[in-house]
Order: sequence, then structure tokens, then C-alpha cells
Amino acid sequence: MERIAIIGAGLCGLRCAEVLQNAGLEVQLFDKSRGVGGRLATRRHQHWRFDHGCPSLHGDQDEWQQLIGGYPRWDTARAKGTQHLPSLGINQLAKDLGATLRVQRDCLIESIEQTGDDWLVRDQHGAEFDGFNHVVMTLPPLQALTLLARLTTPLRSHLQAVSMAPSWVMMWVAPTQLFDAAEHYPEQSFIQRISAEHSKPDRGLPDGEYAYVLEASAAWSSHHEEADKDTIEEAFTKELSRLFGNKPARLHSAVHRWRYAHTRTPMGKPFALDPTIGLSIAGDWCLGQGAGGAYRSGTALAHQLLEDSATG
Ligand SMILES: Cc1cc2nc3c(=O)[nH]c(=O)nc-3n(C[C@H](O)[C@H](O)[C@H](O)COP(=O)(O)OP(=O)(O)OC[C@H]3O[C@@H](n4cnc5c(N)ncnc54)[C@H](O)[C@@H]3O)c2cc1C
Repeated sequence: MERIAIIGAGLCGLRCAEVLQNAGLEVQLFDKSRGVGGRLATRRHQHWRFDHGCPSLHGDQDEWQQLIGGYPRWDTARAKGTQHLPSLGINQLAKDLGATLRVQRDCLIESIEQTGDDWLVRDQHGAEFDGFNHVVMTLPPLQALTLLARLTTPLRSHLQAVSMAPSWVMMWVAPTQLFDAAEHYPEQSFIQRISAEHSKPDRGLPDGEYAYVLEASAAWSSHHEEADKDTIEEAFTKELSRLFGNKPARLHSAVHRWRYAHTRTPMGKPFALDPTIGLSIAGDWCLGQGAGGAYRSGTALAHQLLEDSATG
């Protein structure tokens, strides 16, 4: 039976694994984090939940639409169409997808190497996992390139053509409401989007508590990529005062930097595969269409691998 290793248990890796496993292949996922989902992330603090990566899900592609349509709607009046997300937070979608999959967590893959016809992957503690016929990499492109450093493969040039943009976000809980809507897109501000977390399905808060996630633009985040957290928090707070009048009071705040948040230059096709050595790459950055694109990328690669294994 084919044994496939998938590095990265974000949406793309999970979806790829789901399709392969449903077709009877043996799949092992590896992720450096304690949980699954990557940028489909939900952070908890006390009783507050923040979707501090991707805020919600939308899209009209058949299987994707079917999957996200099974979760409650979040009415945002956004032009992009209906938004959905699980009541417990966006990360729940990843947990649901991963429920029947084998995931090795806390497992930062530092090297991959060929041993005869098979692959061996090694984590940060030197633990080795071997006997894989194929390795799928769904990491951010720069990290994937590092793993390919000692290999000769055309996948390297595909990865070199891709670029990603960072994003600083701030999680904020206030005793007063900043605005009366699900989302707010400030004009002429480095804050490009504010999501009212308390307006999400089943996420209402007691009186006097309003939870928000504020996302900075890619340009501003790039400029301040290496700034320390205190500086970033101060800049966000100052900007909130400018946008909403008096210095807004807060019950909680925290900032987070996503070094690889959004695709700047996509690869231009859903995945790339090197059949001569049994290695492939996938991720949202292939198509550059956010979460829906990550799902599409994982699906397309899985179908190609199944086709190849049927004919090969
Ligand atoms: C702030 C923000 C806002 C966003 N807004 C939207 C939006 O409005 N709409 C939208 O559609 N999308 C949005 N996105 C993008 C969306 O979240 C991503 O497109 C999607 O989640 C990417 O999935 P992925 O599986 O390709 O990558 P990821 O989720 O990044 O998964 C990659 C995984 O690889 C793991 N990994 C990395 N290196 C290693 C290693 N060496 N070993 C093992 N594991 C490793 C990581 O831990 C991660 O789990 C947003 C993202 C952010 C951060």
C-alpha cells in the first residue's frame, strides 16, 4: 500500500490527507504546532475566543461550499458572499477535518531524505519516520525551500517564484462597542479590517464586553515586520483612538505576527509534483485565493496522486 507523508496540517494538508485516506492510502501528517489548522487559528483567553488568523470562510466552489455551508452563517454584509464558521471558532473546522487522520503534533520537520526508493523525515528532536513512498509539503514556500536545500528538483524554482506577505493582528476586548456591525473596514488607516468576534454565531458576550480582531495591512505589517510586540500594540491602540475618538478602554489585548499570512505572488497552478523522486508541494500560495484556494490545492494534488498510483 502507498504510504504518504504530509508535512503541514493546515487546511491544505488536512484536505489532501482526507481525500487520500478515503481512497485507502496510508497517510501520516506532521505539524510543528500543538494543534492542527495552521492559519485557521482560534486563540482563547478567559472566556473570549479570537479567530486571529482567517476570520471566516466563504466561497462558491462545489465541495468547499458544501463543507463550509454545514457551519453556521455569519452575517457580515460583505460583498464577497455568505460567510460561515463553526460556533467554537474557525479552528474547529480543522479539528473536524483532522478527527480521523493520523497527525504527529509538536513535530517540526527539519530534514527529508531519500533512502533507496523511500523517504525518511526527521524532526527537531532527531526522531525519524521512514518508509514513505511520497512526501507532500504544504508549508510556507520559504520553509519548503529550506527542506529542499540539498535536493535537485524543479520544485525549487516553483517555490522561488512565490512570495508571501506578513500580517500583524491585535486581539482586543473593550467594555464599550466600537461599531454596530459584524466587520468594519476603516478608510485611510493601516488597520484594514476589524472583525467583531462577539457578533459571530453563538459567540455573544455578557453586557459590557466586546471582542475584536484588528488586522493591519500587508504594507504596514511588512514595514514593521521585526518590531517588538509592545511597539505594535501601542501603534494599534493609538490608531483606535484616532478612528473612534477617545482612547478606548480595554479589558484585554494581545498582538500576534503572522510571518506568512497572505500570498503576494502565487505559483499560478494548484500544486507542483516531481514524479521522478516522489515529492510534491501544495498550499494556499499555489493559487493565492486564501482558505478556499488551500482547500482546492489539497484536493487537486490528492486526486493527481490517486490517478498516478492507479496508473503507476
Ligand atoms: C490574519 C489572516 C487573515 C486571513 N484572512 C483570510 C480571509 O479573509 N479569507 C481567506 O480565505 N483566507 C484568509 N487568510 C488565509 C487563510 O488562513 C489561509 O489561506 C489558509 O488557512 C492556508 O492554509 P494552508 O494549509 O495552505 O497553510 P497553513 O494554514 O499555513 O498550514 C501550514 C502548516 O504547516 C505547518 N508547518 C510549517 N513548517 C513546518 C515544519 N517544518 N514541520 C511541520 N509543520 C510545519 C504549520 O504549523 C501549519 O500548520 C488569512 C490568514 C491570516 C493569517
